[in-house]
Amino acid sequence: MTGADTPSPQQAPETSACPGCGAVLAVVPGLVGTHPGASASCAGLFAVTVRGLREEAGQDVRAASLLRVSTDAYDAQHLVPGGPAAAPVRLCLELERNVDHARSAALGSRVDDAAPRDLTAPARWTTTVADLAADLDVVDLPALVRAWADAVWADWAPAHDRLRAAADTALTG
Ligand SMILES: [Zn+2]
Repeated sequence: MTGADTPSPQQAPETSACPGCGAVLAVVPGLVGTHPGASASCAGLFAVTVRGLREEAGQDVRAASLLRVSTDAYDAQHLVPGGPAAAPVRLCLELERNVDHARSAALGSRVDDAAPRDLTAPARWTTTVADLAADLDVVDLPALVRAWADAVWADWAPAHDRLRAAADTALTG
């Protein structure tokens, strides 16, 4: 990762708003987008923020669980246009149906099949990865990830009925 959080002091960096979550971030020259529906800077910031979790996930169940929830929260803010709204369904499974990360991952294609494809994502988000990164100095990452996931799920409120129905279809189908 090439200095997503170290803008050059000589020049005011150009900024762009992420098409998914709306976070306004400095454009990092040469940074290539790695996530459909997200700006390159936003995807890069997310990758940096969860890098520690990614490194620990293989040995640490708690880190793996946090990585899963943070990835689903991020994906739920950056849906692929026209694709299934699988990430908010997975958030529902994890936050409301107490499905652990391993089971959630195992449900993969059933969640994709059950997820609605015609939902309109919320126009405004309470919390983005930019807020998460800004608070990281003063608040523990696990607490931030939980609060972020709860906020993303709450932002999806207009679609909760359909997302819950899809979650239950994936669980029982
Ligand atoms: Zn974003």
